[in-house]
Amino acid sequence: MTIRVGIIGTGLIGEDHGRKLAGGAIAGSTVTGVTDVFRARAEEVAGILGGARVFETGAELIASDEVDAVLVTSIGPTHAEYVLACITAGKPVMCEKPLAPTTPECEAILAAEVAFGRRLVIVGYMRRYDPGYRLVKGALEAGTIGVPLMLHNVHRNATVGEAFTSFMTMTDSMIHEVDTTRWLLGEEITSVQVIAPKRTPNAFPHLQDPQFAVFGTETGILSTVEFFANCQYGYDVRCELVGSLGTSAMTNPTFEATSAGGGVATRIPADWRERFAGAYTAELQAWISGLERGETVGPSAWEGYAATRVVEAGVEAVRTGERVTIDYVAKPALYA
Ligand code: NAP
Repeated sequence: MTIRVGIIGTGLIGEDHGRKLAGGAIAGSTVTGVTDVFRARAEEVAGILGGARVFETGAELIASDEVDAVLVTSIGPTHAEYVLACITAGKPVMCEKPLAPTTPECEAILAAEVAFGRRLVIVGYMRRYDPGYRLVKGALEAGTIGVPLMLHNVHRNATVGEAFTSFMTMTDSMIHEVDTTRWLLGEEITSVQVIAPKRTPNAFPHLQDPQFAVFGTETGILSTVEFFANCQYGYDVRCELVGSLGTSAMTNPTFEATSAGGGVATRIPADWRERFAGAYTAELQAWISGLERGETVGPSAWEGYAATRVVEAGVEAVRTGERVTIDYVAKPALYA
């Protein structure tokens, strides 16, 4: 059985995912439709993907008999409209993060999916499929490090463009640590504070860079995140989980190591596309293989809602520097 995917939003990650879904990297999928507000770009990507049909609108793509499942990779503010339309049409949908930028939009998606009666929506939190994060989770679940007490995260980009703002550190970048914190610990985040350290001279003046966030969870575990947007040297993502009996640290992926001149040199990934390439493939494969079995596999709409809820509070914390507490709507049984 081949799952025929339609892609809404053929920008950077829409094309990347499309190449995997159409090009054989993912077993059991093909891409039959694409659409983008920038039609010329959709036509270009349709050509790259071997002649997928270009739809005029997302609504037409979702309604098409030629599309079994939908991938939403347009910009965040458009996500809720498309995800809701997929639920109305009863079509499975994978939505890139965020599920939606605001909690009312996420709550509308939860309500629609609950009314539909079964899960259709997954959200693209691909770090859950990264071998490094999975080893840390495995060590915790095996009991090797005891009960979790603290999680330390580092998230560094080489550079960011002038359009990147101090709030985007939370909405675009630390949103990943929000999800990995929730997933690794199996607890909701109940508070967030963001501290502004001394600024690097290598950021545009409007950007507070770096930033240091402290998330607190239901049982009082602290999860810290150093986010540094202009570290200059490469893309560097780390985490160490500290437990009552030991720690589990994610090592960077191993690239070829060159020993020469009395030293050892290994590469650092240039960016997130290189660092998490395998995780993106694994998340897409898990989604497609699940659909072949009639299952919805991947982070749920609840996970998307919870991350957005924390990020909203995080934006407030960036603005005020205060500790912001977080509460949630009751979790529907569908997501138990
Ligand atoms: P991008 O390169 O800007 O691509 C987004 C595309 O969507 C653009 O071609 C844009 O067209 C198009 N678009 C805008 N409004 C639309 C609409 N109403 N209907 C259909 N298409 C529309 O952005 P990107 O980097 O690919 O990011 C896309 C999404 O993926 C974002 O939500 C982002 O947060 C997420 N993302 C996730 C990860 C991850 O690690 N999981 C990584 C990267 C991105 P115009 O350019 O003409 O506006």
